[in-house]
Amino acid sequence: MAYSYDPTNIFARILRGEIPNKTVIETAHTLAFEDIRPSAPVHVLVIPKGPYVCFDHFASEASDEEIADFNRATADICRKLGLSPGAGGQGYRILSNAGDHGHQEVPHYHLHLLAGRPLGPMLAR
Ligand code: AMP
Repeated sequence: MAYSYDPTNIFARILRGEIPNKTVIETAHTLAFEDIRPSAPVHVLVIPKGPYVCFDHFASEASDEEIADFNRATADICRKLGLSPGAGGQGYRILSNAGDHGHQEVPHYHLHLLAGRPLGPMLAR
């Protein structure tokens, strides 16, 4: 796969401890922290600690352990923040941008976890 990872991106710097973050959860392979420019009352970024550029890079090249850790950590955040509809929460939206058309700004794979108000239709037409 033709991905090359830029280790100077801002999330890599957060992972190296060069830039502070408001951590929500940290596990062996995953870090989640508050977005600096929140688009909703809850706006958490979930990133793998490994050097992956976007979803398909991560999903095809990360180990099963990393993928399981990442997904379980994301579910833990939903529970921790009281968002899970299955546990009485009001729900959330997860999205991930990739590449130019996806409008990805930071070239380190991340999920946006958004919640805290009705989020409306998924995309503007
Ligand atoms: P994307 O456009 O999907 O790459 O989203 C990148 C996100 O990273 C944006 O929502 C930014 O607000 C967020 N962001 C950029 N720098 C920081 C930072 N230092 N700490 C937390 N969030 C950041």
